[in-house]
Order: sequence, then C-alpha cells, then structure tokens
Amino acid sequence: IVQWTPFFQTYKKQRYPWIQLAGHQGNFKAGPDQGTILKKLCPQEERCFQLLMKDVLRPFVPEYKGQVTCEDGELYLQLQDLLSDFDSPCVMDCKIGVRTYLEEELAKAKEKTKLRKDMYEKMIQIDPKAPTEEEHRSKGVTKPRYMIWRETISSTATLGFRIDGVKKADGTSSKDFKTTKTREQIVESFKDFTSNFPNAAPKYLERLKSIRDTLKESPFFRSHELIGSSLLFVHDKRRASLWMIDFAKTVPVPDNVSIDHNSVWEVGNHEDGYLIGLNNLISIFESLIKD
Ligand code: ATP
Ligand code: MG
Ligand code: MG
Repeated sequence: IVQWTPFFQTYKKQRYPWIQLAGHQGNFKAGPDQGTILKKLCPQEERCFQLLMKDVLRPFVPEYKGQVTCEDGELYLQLQDLLSDFDSPCVMDCKIGVRTYLEEELAKAKEKTKLRKDMYEKMIQIDPKAPTEEEHRSKGVTKPRYMIWRETISSTATLGFRIDGVKKADGTSSKDFKTTKTREQIVESFKDFTSNFPNAAPKYLERLKSIRDTLKESPFFRSHELIGSSLLFVHDKRRASLWMIDFAKTVPVPDNVSIDHNSVWEVGNHEDGYLIGLNNLISIFESLIKD
C-alpha cells in the first residue's frame, strides 16, 4: 500500500491548516480574504457557481465571490473555505454519480479504436480476471472499455457514489478507496470516519435529506448533468455539515433531453445517477445511526 498524505497547507493569511483531498495541488491557493480559497478558473464551473448563487441550492454550495487574477496572471474563482469554521476538522470527499466521465468524453474515446497496453496493464493489476480472453491475447483494451470498467471497481457504478478521500481527526488520511466497492466496505469506512464523534452521523443524515428535498425544487439540478461532482463532509467536536462541490464537469442537459438523475444510465441518455448516490448515502447513514 502506498502511503498517501493529503496536501496540508498552512497559508500565512490563515491561522489554520487547509486540507485538499482531491485534484492537483496547483489548482488551489489561499484566498485574498480570510475564510476563502482560490480554485483555478474553469469557465464551465464559473458558470455553474453564477447560476447556483441564484438557485435554491445556494445554502448547500460554497459561496462564490467572483474572479481573482493572481500574480502569475492566472484566473481563479474565489470560494468560501468550507473548513474555516471548524477546529481540526475531519474531512471526506464522496464523488457522486454512476459515472465520472461525460458522454462527450466517452464518445471521443470511442473514435479511437487503438488497443491500449497501458490500460490493459492497469486493469490486470487490479483484477487479473477482468480482461476477456481476446483482450488477454492482444494484451490491450480499448479506452472506452477501460473507462466503463474503471467505474465498476469502486462503488460508483453500483451505489452511485464513491469515497475519493478522507482525512481524520487523528491526522491519518487515505485516498486508498479505489476498490472500496461493497455497501459493507462503505459502512466500515463511514464508521471509521465518524468514530468518536457521536453527533456527526445524525447531522450528516439530516443535511443529506435537506439536500435531497432541495434538489427536487432546483431549476439548476433539473437542467444539469452533474459529473465528477462531490459532497464534502466536514465535522469536528462541535459541528458537522456537508456541501456540494466541484462543478468542473457539470454541464447543461441538451435541449431535447430530460433526465431524472435516478434512472439507469445508458450511453447517450445523459443520466448521471446523482439521486441514486444520494439515496444510497441516506440509507447507509440511516443504518449507521440505528446500530
Ligand atoms: P478533482 O476533479 O480531481 O476532484 P478538482 O481540481 O476539480 O479535483 P475539487 O474536487 O473542487 O478540485 O476540490 C479538491 C479538494 O479540495 C476537495 O476534495 C476538498 O478537499 C478541497 N476543497 C475544494 N473546494 C473547497 C472549499 N470550498 N472549501 C474547502 N475545501 C475545498
Ligand atoms: Mg473533485
Ligand atoms: Mg473536478
């Protein structure tokens, strides 16, 4: 097992260390104002934040405070730092949805029918039985085949979400969830994440339900496909809350298509499985509270 540490940054302007569980380290910086962070600008994501600030979902996303140009000339989004009100927070990033690539990315991958040896190697490293006889013979898999397979090694394809990273109060952290797949494994990870914090799970459950209720009313949710977006769980001794983050791959649903976020995804139907993931999270937190 490769030891992994999240990026801990102590920014001069902030009195607390900041924790980043996913993405490239270079994508984030301390914000110019206390309690804010900067994320490298992606126009698609900025557009989402602009819409979200006027949507009923606003209380469930970090506040968007506009663009900032840094000394390096790069543009950033200034966002509320969701960790700033916590003392030594425990943090977990769960990526929601039954797939983490756009329809467009899959279509592009399908244009290239070249067999990929590197993807075959990655595949057999995780599961030597995954390739077909034909794939074993040619020692290669196509990219779309690999993309679809990769979502089945974690809980993404089956439960509609996966754990992307965790940092606990004792300082230990892990990103080693690539093959955390079954409901039982997830339950164990959530128990571990909330152990010694008896207030956390009930608060998370309540917040998950508020998000579900609000999504039903949200024009933004109705009209967008949310791919690779996460729920960020944060708790300390006193508080627990969670927010919707990462809209870099959230795109408008095409005009002639409508999605319910709860139906099975078939290539081309644009379903993201967001509610499949959310409902499974709710059901898992309900069962955690019962024992
Ligand atoms: P990827 O696409 O690989 O998931 P990304 O570059 O799009 O990464 P995000 O997913 O938005 O970046 O964020 C990466 C991590 O940074 C999150 O897992 C979380 O730990 C932290 N983070 C992001 N936004 C905030 C925020 N507003 N407040 C506090 N922490 C945040
Ligand atoms: Mg992310
Ligand atoms: Mg992202």
